[in-house]
Formats: sequence, C-alpha cells, structure tokens
Amino acid sequence: MTLHIGFPTALIYYSHFPFWQGYFNRLGVEIVTSPPTTRTILDDGAREAVADACIPIKLYHGHVLTLKDKVDALFIPRMVRINRRATFCPKFLGLPDMVRATLTGLPPIIDLQVDAGRGLLGLWPTCRGLAELLGFSLGTAWPAYREGNKHQRAYEELLRKGYLPLQAMARLRGEAVEAPSRQPGALNLAVLGYPYQVYDDYISLDIIGKLQKMRANIMTMEMLPPRRLFQLSSRLPKRLFWHFSNLVIGATYHYLQQGDIDGIIHVTAFGCGPDAMVDKLMELDVRGISQGKVAYMSLSIDEQTGDAGVTTRLEAFVDMLHQRRENR
Ligand code: SF4
Repeated sequence: MTLHIGFPTALIYYSHFPFWQGYFNRLGVEIVTSPPTTRTILDDGAREAVADACIPIKLYHGHVLTLKDKVDALFIPRMVRINRRATFCPKFLGLPDMVRATLTGLPPIIDLQVDAGRGLLGLWPTCRGLAELLGFSLGTAWPAYREGNKHQRAYEELLRKGYLPLQAMARLRGEAVEAPSRQPGALNLAVLGYPYQVYDDYISLDIIGKLQKMRANIMTMEMLPPRRLFQLSSRLPKRLFWHFSNLVIGATYHYLQQGDIDGIIHVTAFGCGPDAMVDKLMELDVRGISQGKVAYMSLSIDEQTGDAGVTTRLEAFVDMLHQRRENR
C-alpha cells in the first residue's frame, strides 16, 4: 500500500519542496500537500499556535490541521542548516516540538534533523535517515536523493530565469507557464522578504500580483544565486545568524548595486525577531548607499492586515516613484 506523507504548503515549501518531492516520489511515497491558504486555515492556525508566534508559524499550524486526517505521517523536518554559512531561525529548529505541543490527534511526525552544515553531501544524511525510518534500503535511497537534487536544480534554474516559485513549480509539473517579462520604461521594484511570507498569496495579500497590475517590473531574491547573496551579506560588519535574513540583506545590496532599481519593498512578518534587525539594517543601507535615489518601504503583515490598507500603501508608493522619475 502506498504511503502518504503530508507536506504543509508553508515555510520551507517555497524553498525546498521540489527536492523532497523528487526524493519521495522516487521512493514510491506519495506526498500530499495542503491546499492554498484560506481565511479558515489562517484562523485555525492562529487559534492553536502559541500566541506570540509570527504569522508564518501560525499559518503552518493551520496547514498541518488540514492534512492531519488525510495522511499516514507528517514530514516536519527540524531545519538547522542547509549550508555552512547560517542557521535557520529558532522557530524552524523547534517547529516539530511546537506542533506536537499545541495540536492534538496528529499522525506520526517525521522530524529528522536537516543539518547540511557539516558534511559534503548536503541533505544525504537526512535522506539516509528517512530511508531507514521508512524501511527502504540505502541502494534505493541514493538514487532518490539524486533525483531530489535534480528537481531542486531545475527549480532554482527557473527561479533564476524570473519565474516566481509557484510558477516554477507549475512549470516543473509540465504546465505552460511563462515567466513575467520585463517591461521597458516601467518601474523596477525589488520585493524582498522570506519566501514563505512573500509567496503565500493570502498572507502577503498578493503584493507581487498587485504591483504587476500597476505595471511594475518585480525583482526578488530568488532570482539571484544564494552563493552571491551570502557573499554580499558579508558586507555587514558581522554576518547575521539566520539563513533567510542573510539572503534578504544580500539581495538588498545586490539591487542597490544594480543601479536601475526605483524602490525596495520589504515584506516582513509582525512578531518576527530576526526581521526587527533586518528591517532596520535595510532601511539604513538603502538610505545610505543609494543616497536617497532608491525609495524604501517596509510592509509588516499580521493576521489582521487588511487588503485595502496594503493596496493604498502600494498605490501611494508607486505614485510617489512615478512622480520622482518625472521630477528627474
Ligand atoms: S524568521 Fe521571523 S518570520 Fe521566519 S519563522 Fe522566524 S520569526 Fe517567523
């Protein structure tokens, strides 16, 4: 009988799902994902999660609830490091424990550690542990691991070409999706933030879609190689501890150097500890490095944020940037 493993459409879904899909599919395990976020999923998660959690963590709980009765086990890896350079935020490290402590009636949770910071073989130690746990031989697990890497590489190549994460995943499924093309003369905006915040259209209130409708060209950190972003983040006197925070800072420096960016929008989660620092660093660096030529806006989102308020702020930002261009 085919084993069904639940994979919540939240947090690492937007950065690493293709790897795990390739790996599990090759093993013959079916991955079941949760549906796109709705008000009910968010409300359920917010009700069950610890009160001071950030919105992405609350949302994760909501996605787990949608899967719990449909799968044989839930895959909630303990994300520590995926390279030698930085660790994940402490909430990723404690995620399986948080979910276990707050939700009841769950199927078994597979919470193997992902710590690719020590060896040379990336996620292989986790894949090997998973295979042992699920009763597969190492001879079966190795090609599955390689398949996962192949999927992830193909996904990241699409991101570099300008596909947004959900478009890239659709493309990998064989759907006819085209990356947005850059429009000459349009505003160039970098929309930066943690992928699970920016690309969940419900909690981000589809900020990217709204800006595209306002005819802006959108740049994101996923369009740049992570290695380059980590190099750039070392411009800080001391690199940050957290994986995604370094990517966001690196992307800020990259787009400031690029020279044709009109504005940078930071999408941040209310209650996010790392972002309290990242947001201030970005604001100071955008102001200092661009000497006022690049505008900066921080959009802090929580479960109460309304669509109309965000639309108004984006419209005002875009109008201001058009005005600036005309004045120049
Ligand atoms: S980095 Fe911030 S938004 Fe992400 S999980 Fe940690 S606290 Fe939440």
